[in-house]
Amino acid sequence: MRLTKLKLAGFKSFVDPTSVVFPGQLAGVVGPNGCGKSNIIDAVRWVLGESKASELRGESIQDVIFKGSGTRKEVSRASVELHFDNSLGRATGQWSQYGEIVVKRLLDREGNSSYYLNNLHVRRRDVIDLFLGTGLGPRAYAIIGQGMISRIVEAKPDELRMFLEEAAGVTKYKERRRETENR
Ligand code: ATP
Ligand code: MG
Repeated sequence: MRLTKLKLAGFKSFVDPTSVVFPGQLAGVVGPNGCGKSNIIDAVRWVLGESKASELRGESIQDVIFKGSGTRKEVSRASVELHFDNSLGRATGQWSQYGEIVVKRLLDREGNSSYYLNNLHVRRRDVIDLFLGTGLGPRAYAIIGQGMISRIVEAKPDELRMFLEEAAGVTKYKERRRETENR
């Protein structure tokens, strides 16, 4: 699956609906300090299921909702959408039949968070499951953040093994086994 588009509204500094398109294999995001470059990466990790405020550089989970600025009032909800080209049918399970897969997440100030896959209301687990073993996920290695290289270099064996298992594609099966054992 190839990432083609990111849509944000009410997410951090992106108060108005904004589309970021990725037309080719390589895209660069440039701009002055504080213009929202890192917020774009936060949006990608958030829509894929990241819910820990500190991982999103905030104090509370609602900190991802636009909180107002000198000229604009705060908004009541954040929404992020990720579009993937699935024309090769690589997505697993029921999702393989769709030419495009859209992952969406909404959050309001009451803390209600909801996830959608192609407009179908799903659980966070369904989103996590779709990307397990692909290297893309809220904390997987497709996104290398500041400090992550040193985290890998200094990782304890157990933590390092998690990265290796994701690369080898076995995390998905381990997760399935864990679920079965917990039933
Ligand atoms: P740098 O080049 O310094 O890394 P950057 O382009 O990565 O900068 P970001 O960290 O993405 O910048 O954006 C920071 C900006 O986002 C700050 O101005 C901050 O006030 C704004 N911001 C973060 N959360 C919110 C929010 N909930 N509501 C409104 N603005 C927000
Ligand atoms: Mg930054």
